[in-house]
Amino acid sequence: MIDLCNQEPVPLLSVDAALARIKAAICPITESETVDLKNALGRVLSESLYSPINIPYEKNAAMDGYAFSSQDINHEQPFTLTLAGISWAGRPFEGHLQPGQCIRIFTGAVLPHQADSVVMQEHVRAEGEAIHFSAGTPAGQHIREVGEDIKQGGLLCGHSKKLTATDLGLLASAGIYELAVKRPVKIAFFSTGDELTALGQPLASGKIYDSNRYLLSGLLTDACYSVTDLGVIADNKQMLEDSFISAAKIHDVIITTGGASVGDADYVKEILDRCGDVNFWKIAIKPGKPLAFGKIGSCYFFGLPGNPVAVIVTFQFIVAPALKQISGVPDLKRLQITATCTTNLKKSLGRQEYQRGILSQDKNGDFFVASSGKQGSNILSSISRANCYMILPAECANLQAGDKVKVELMLGAEII
Ligand code: AMP
Ligand code: MG
Repeated sequence: MIDLCNQEPVPLLSVDAALARIKAAICPITESETVDLKNALGRVLSESLYSPINIPYEKNAAMDGYAFSSQDINHEQPFTLTLAGISWAGRPFEGHLQPGQCIRIFTGAVLPHQADSVVMQEHVRAEGEAIHFSAGTPAGQHIREVGEDIKQGGLLCGHSKKLTATDLGLLASAGIYELAVKRPVKIAFFSTGDELTALGQPLASGKIYDSNRYLLSGLLTDACYSVTDLGVIADNKQMLEDSFISAAKIHDVIITTGGASVGDADYVKEILDRCGDVNFWKIAIKPGKPLAFGKIGSCYFFGLPGNPVAVIVTFQFIVAPALKQISGVPDLKRLQITATCTTNLKKSLGRQEYQRGILSQDKNGDFFVASSGKQGSNILSSISRANCYMILPAECANLQAGDKVKVELMLGAEII
C-alpha cells in the first residue's frame, strides 16, 4: 500500500545514497598527538606499530614442572635426572645444565640454554635430588619459544586501528609506552526549540524537557571525540545563525536536533543554506526524514530531526559512520543477522524503516525478534526496552509474523 502522506515532490535520497554522499564528502583527520599507553584506549593509531623485541623475549616454561634436555634421555624408558637448581619467573637458574641433570622450573621462568623440554610436576616422582620420569615422557613440550607470539620487527597493530583493551595489553607486552594517535574530533552539539525546558525546572504548558542533549552526550561518549554541549538555542534565526557560525570556527562537526523540517519555526535548513553548503536535507528513512548534511567552511554539520527516536536512529545509521570516517577509523561493517519476526509489522512503501525490536536466541541458536511496542518517533519507552532495529527496506510493505527480517543490534546492546 502506498502511504499518500509520504509522497514527495522529488524522490527522497535512499539511505545508501546518503551514506555514499557523506563518504565522498568527508576527509579524515590527519593531525596526530602523542599519548601514554594508559590513555590510548579507544584512540585511533596514526602509525603502524612494530615490536622492538621478540615476544617471548626468551625461551620459557609454559607449566610448573621440571626442565631437561631431551638429548640425554631415552624416551622409551623410565629415567632419573639429578636436580641441579631452580628457575623462578623473574629469577632464572644461573648455572649450566650438565648431562643427566634437570631443574625445577615455574611457569614463565627462563629455560637454561641446554634445556628443551618441560614435564609437568604431576608427572614426575621426586625423591630428594633424584627426579624420576616415567617411560614415554615427551620431549619438547610446554615450552614457549622466543618470538612465537610476535617476532622482533613484526606488526603489533596497524595504522588506523581503534585501540581496544586487548591492544593495550599487546603493546605493553612489547614495552611500548607512548604512541601517536589521531587528535580527537571536535564536536559541538545543541538543541533547538522554544519548547525546551532545562531539567530541574517545572514544565509550563506547551513545554517539554530536552531529551536530545542527554541522548547525544551519551551517544558521543567516545575517546576519539572531544565534545562541547552548547545548550539549547531558541527558534530564533539570528541566534541560530550566530551559533552555527561561531561553533563552525572551532569545531570539526556540529550536530543539532530539531528545526530541520519545513514547519514555520524550522530554520536550520534555511540558515545552513545561507552560511554553508547543504549537501542533502531529506532522506528516505523512518524515523528521521529531515536530516541536513553539509559544511560550514571546513566544519561538517548534521541537522538532525527533533524527535528523540529519530535522533537515536539517524545517529546510529548516518552520523556514527560519518564520525568514524572523520576520526580516521576504517569503514568496518556492523554485524547484521536475519531473524524470524514473531509479530506483525506495519510498514509503508517508500522509506527504509528502522523499527525497534527485542532480539532473542533460542537454545538451537535460532534468532527471533518481536516489536518492542509503539513505533512513533517520539516514543522513547519502546526504544529503551528494545535491543535491536529491524531494518525494513524502502520497497518492503507490511510483514506478517513468521516473516524473516534483517536485524542490527543497538549500539552497546546485548541479546536475551
Ligand atoms: P522539530 O523538528 O523542531 O519540529 O521537532 C519535532 C518534534 O521533536 C517536536 O515534537 C519537538 O517538540 C520534539 N523535540 C525537538 N527537540 C527536542 C528535544 N531536544 N528533546 C525532546 N523533544 C524534542
Ligand atoms: Mg522545533
